[in-house]
Amino acid sequence: MKLETIKVLQQLLSTPKNVVIIPHKNPDGDAMGSSLGWMHFLNKNNHTASVIVPNPYPKFLKWIPGDETVICFETNEDQALKRLEKADIICTLDFNSLERIEVLGEYVRNHAATKIMIDHHREPQDYADIQFSEPEIGSTCELVYQIIESLSALEQIDNTIATCIYVGMLTDTGSFRFPSVTPKTHRIVAHLIECGANHAAIYNQIYNTSTMSRLQLLGQALSNLKIVPEYHTAFMTLSQEELKKFDFQKGDTEGFVNYALTIEGVKLAIIMIEDKSEQYVKLSLRSSGSFSVNEMAKKHFHGGGHINAAGGKYNGSIGETVQKLTSLLPQYQQALHTS
Ligand code: 5GP
Ligand code: MN
Repeated sequence: MKLETIKVLQQLLSTPKNVVIIPHKNPDGDAMGSSLGWMHFLNKNNHTASVIVPNPYPKFLKWIPGDETVICFETNEDQALKRLEKADIICTLDFNSLERIEVLGEYVRNHAATKIMIDHHREPQDYADIQFSEPEIGSTCELVYQIIESLSALEQIDNTIATCIYVGMLTDTGSFRFPSVTPKTHRIVAHLIECGANHAAIYNQIYNTSTMSRLQLLGQALSNLKIVPEYHTAFMTLSQEELKKFDFQKGDTEGFVNYALTIEGVKLAIIMIEDKSEQYVKLSLRSSGSFSVNEMAKKHFHGGGHINAAGGKYNGSIGETVQKLTSLLPQYQQALHTS
């Protein structure tokens, strides 16, 4: 993190500001935790901050402190635009290209407010006046902590802020098991627990709130699993019909793709889920080792992400998406073999 950037931020925040914080579409634990944590921190420092999400998010995130104040652009556009109008500062959290927030991106691009990017994905787009882009850091939540630390404001981290930040550090590191986890990550987490974050309760809220139909949907995804051993690849599919059969609720498929990666020898795991428009398929890609799913998602599926976790889309049916994927594998044989 550049000292210069921190100084600019410090100067900007030296007088009360009206701030809007926006996470990416289909916000996950890191997006919601970092946005709400940053919101509480700013509000504690005499600013007026609110979070606007592009669209709704799953139930397992709907308890994070401050959740009741979140404005949803998709379901409450008037209120969101009114709130946005007043902003002196817009912070975009856990993404780095305005396409990730779809229509809302144009409002942000054309807004006169000072724009701040706080993110940990690769290859940031150039839209922010103040840019915190740290791809080496495992979660945007960890980055928010480090920004607060650089502002010499760690003593302001209370139970509320600690809880929010813990959420994304937990979810974006696969419960602290990904290579992105460092000794510093654990030191930060230790401090968050000292500040009052209840790690056991947070884990329960996020991971132990499944429904029976969600587990049955997982069963369906697992029984659709295919392995392509010569390419160290495993993939699953879920059609709209299957999603409906098991009463799909937003967030239900979160984490499914990781099961495919637990198979010995599998280095590339993909889940393909038919969108409700039935016009396209959403892909989640995961890898272990040095194989970059970010590159694959960017090149072939209009997406991106990180080396070991990325997402994208394919315009076509499930069958066509599977065909596209299998036609791509031979060109990655070498990379998958050596990764
Ligand atoms: P997931 O597969 O859990 O949806 O996403 C994995 C990672 O890839 C996350 O870091 C997410 O931000 C990123 N990602 C998911 N979908 C897209 C996409 O359509 N475009 C881009 N650029 N990144 C994505
Ligand atoms: Mn993240």
